[in-house]
Amino acid sequence: MIQLKQYVKVQSIDEAYALNQNKRNVIIGGMHWLKMSRRNAGIGIDLSGLGLDKIEETEDAFEIGCMTSLRTLELDEALNEYCNGAVRDAVKDIVGVQFRNTATIGGSIFGRYGFSDVLTVFLAMDTSVVCHHAGEIPLEEFAQMKYDRDVVEKIIVKKSPIKMAYQAIRRIRTDFPALTCAVSCVDGQYRAAVGARPAKARLILDEDNILADGITQASATAFGEAVADKLNYSTNMRGSAEYRKMTTPVLVRRALMQIAED
Ligand SMILES: Cc1cc2nc3c(=O)[nH]c(=O)nc-3n(C[C@H](O)[C@H](O)[C@H](O)COP(=O)(O)OP(=O)(O)OC[C@H]3O[C@@H](n4cnc5c(N)ncnc54)[C@H](O)[C@@H]3O)c2cc1C
Repeated sequence: MIQLKQYVKVQSIDEAYALNQNKRNVIIGGMHWLKMSRRNAGIGIDLSGLGLDKIEETEDAFEIGCMTSLRTLELDEALNEYCNGAVRDAVKDIVGVQFRNTATIGGSIFGRYGFSDVLTVFLAMDTSVVCHHAGEIPLEEFAQMKYDRDVVEKIIVKKSPIKMAYQAIRRIRTDFPALTCAVSCVDGQYRAAVGARPAKARLILDEDNILADGITQASATAFGEAVADKLNYSTNMRGSAEYRKMTTPVLVRRALMQIAED
């Protein structure tokens, strides 16, 4: 369990950033992941007083404050209408409602966890991460960056024309996923994000235009196989590398057929 020496509810992001430059200090999101670490930390930096727990819709984007809960993401009608319910489908099996009421998007995106449904679904959209020091960074790039002492302020999803669906495999409901998959067509370009391999989600584009003539069982299967071939897989207690490689095309195909039906 983590032990904090001091707790500070900051008055500004500047204050949070300054405090976070000391390696002993730690930003607190929903604290679900943090609380499981074994660590004696200095100051716990609480961002909950900064009004960053909302989704603001503008004409061309959704701006999601870092303290927005997974439950808010799940219930937000405008965001879910935009992404055909993919965000709701991605978070609905994460533990339970009480957990999702407090787990935050900031902690989820900053964590860049391999098993993350949240990272997977946002990768498939036109998403960027706004960090206090580094500014706006495409999520695909942020996902590959090393952990640093910056503060994630918000997540921006640009309202590019999109069709989208989310699929995952869990051995039992509420467990960590054995495989995650979000497929989208953004501005006419098909893409698939596949995570929990168990490595973190990666985005694969339809560079060979397999889906250029539309989604059919054959083109969906072919794209699924192309995606599976471009990814690496490993084994852990939730599934073997072989199982993950075999099921990736299935999830990609199912997601594509869902998009076609919608
Ligand atoms: C038992 C359990 C089961 C889970 N199952 C799933 C699952 O099935 N699917 C899934 O996608 N996720 C799952 N998660 C992960 C969960 O959804 C959250 O991603 C995770 O708990 C982190 O969110 P948090 O708000 O609790 O962050 P915290 O635990 O508070 O923080 C996590 C990390 O992010 C840092 N941080 C937090 N906010 C910021 C910020 N704004 N800027 C910079 N750094 C920040 C913290 O310092 C810490 O290092 C699970 C977690 C647990 C504990």
